[in-house]
Amino acid sequence: MAETIFSKIIRGEIHCHRVYEDAHVLAFLDIGPLSAGHTLVIPKEPAATLDALSDDSAAALGRALPRLCRAVMKATGATAYNVLQNNGADAHQAVFHVHFHIIPKFPSRPSGSSGLGITWNPGKLDAETAKSLTSAISQSMT
Ligand code: AMP
Repeated sequence: MAETIFSKIIRGEIHCHRVYEDAHVLAFLDIGPLSAGHTLVIPKEPAATLDALSDDSAAALGRALPRLCRAVMKATGATAYNVLQNNGADAHQAVFHVHFHIIPKFPSRPSGSSGLGITWNPGKLDAETAKSLTSAISQSMT
């Protein structure tokens, strides 16, 4: 995996506003926050996208994430939040080191500080497509 700014943050070569660290996980404030308390949670393992992450790192992230969500909510007073995780440039990933965004939502605040905005254009799942996708995905599980 190519070196990213997050590798330098993990090594302590670049400053971050660290809110949590353990053997496998680091969490720090996003420098371009969508709302107050916007936090990034990253594995120390250098994987570019979630599908490339080891089970051990995934388990460590899974343990830390809900605790960090609780801490961000408690600290900011937010009662709603989004967890966002982008994989690939086409999915808006800018830093190619796995990271989860915890983004508190403050609906009453002006846009620019209210949190994540989402455009969601749902389609319709037809029976044939559902059948073939269910089969393809379940058979691809390793
Ligand atoms: P993504 O589009 O999911 O790859 O998001 C990358 C995020 O990393 C953005 O929200 C950036 O603001 C954030 N970011 C980039 N560099 C830093 C940094 N040095 N410290 C904290 N957050 C950063």
